[in-house]
Amino acid sequence: MGVRTRMTESEREALLIRLEEKVDDFLEWLSAFSAEGAGVTRLLYSPQWLEAQQALHAKLAGMGLDASFDEVGNVFGRLAGRKPELAPIVTGSHVDTVVSGGRYDGAYGIAAACIALEYLRDTYGSPIRTLEAVSLSEEEGSRFPMAYWGSGSIAGERSFEGVRGLADSDGVTFEEAMRSCGFGAGSGKAARREDIGAFVELHIEQGSVLESEGLSVGVVDAVVGQRRFLVRLGGEANHAGTTPMRMRRDALEGAGAMMSLLRGEALRRGAQLVATVGRLLASPNVPNVVAGEASFTVDVRHSDPLELERFCGWFPAAFRDAAESRGLTFECEEWFREEPAPMDDKLKERLDKVCEELGIGSKRMVSGAGHDAQMFQRLCPSALLFVPSKGGLSHAPEEFTSSRELATGVLVLTELLYRLGYEEEEETLP
Ligand SMILES: [Zn+2]
Repeated sequence: MGVRTRMTESEREALLIRLEEKVDDFLEWLSAFSAEGAGVTRLLYSPQWLEAQQALHAKLAGMGLDASFDEVGNVFGRLAGRKPELAPIVTGSHVDTVVSGGRYDGAYGIAAACIALEYLRDTYGSPIRTLEAVSLSEEEGSRFPMAYWGSGSIAGERSFEGVRGLADSDGVTFEEAMRSCGFGAGSGKAARREDIGAFVELHIEQGSVLESEGLSVGVVDAVVGQRRFLVRLGGEANHAGTTPMRMRRDALEGAGAMMSLLRGEALRRGAQLVATVGRLLASPNVPNVVAGEASFTVDVRHSDPLELERFCGWFPAAFRDAAESRGLTFECEEWFREEPAPMDDKLKERLDKVCEELGIGSKRMVSGAGHDAQMFQRLCPSALLFVPSKGGLSHAPEEFTSSRELATGVLVLTELLYRLGYEEEEETLP
């Protein structure tokens, strides 16, 4: 049993207050590395991004950890274990943000990793198994049309060949941006890792489930799978006054009917399934002409591959029927697919147990957004932990999680790392 479960109430309270101060200070400090404008903007390989990663490198070294960069700009801080033959446990999140994002998304996981390692080292000295904090270079896909660059490079899911030719909205190529910060093939140690024993990521929920249920921690069962489609409908553009209703081939009306079908069926299948039409284009798109063409996107997410498959088999057939009954032509093309990513069962059970023993209210949940932990799960047992987001708001300057909620998440992470790093000597994890 971990040490923090044996603490008295007042000892635990004192520790939480200390963690609150640490995490508040850390997030305040990291949020200053930002481009001008509202909120925090730290795009991959921008000057603010480079300053942040260099400052994190210095901070980790200052903590007495073995700090290093890899060739894509991930920063590691290593707390060496007494048994180097045991595979290390890595914890952290991404340093990049969206444009005008908040100060918690990604940054919190880095802060938590640094604070947990520092606390463990100061309190217990060297672990048995090596622990590493990581500040991952990129996850959001906000500058270049590609995401999970940091974790994907470590897991072997991203490569320098794969980003060749990519450019940002100013025409700066990925290669140029990366080189301007001193990174790229041959610039340092390889990003690809095969030695990691487990990965744990602490992140804000970015939704309102925990807040609405009054819980402190979410143990993520799975990151949802996503599939995106483009639907095109062809009808006949015609006069809005002289074309009788029964003689119309109205593409926009067909699109509207399909959206209703989609919503009705998604509701019927249960809360976990979400289906979204986020973009709709009509042609000629004028007030007094029946639309001759319409196209729209469909985004479907679920954590169960079978449920996802079933729904994505159902809707194109239902749409085709709706199109035929209106005399419309119909095309449906899938352009994006990400399979559901279940997190590691044993790590989930350990986290449930840590929360239960600490008396912290928690629940299993799915993540509707993608995270670095899903890349790591392809490499090693991985876990993803959430803390509440006020009002479910994220990717906005108003993003907020209270100091106590942040500290509680750090406490759970610290306890898990203690159990894995200081108490166990098994060859395999978890
Ligand atoms: Zn994030």
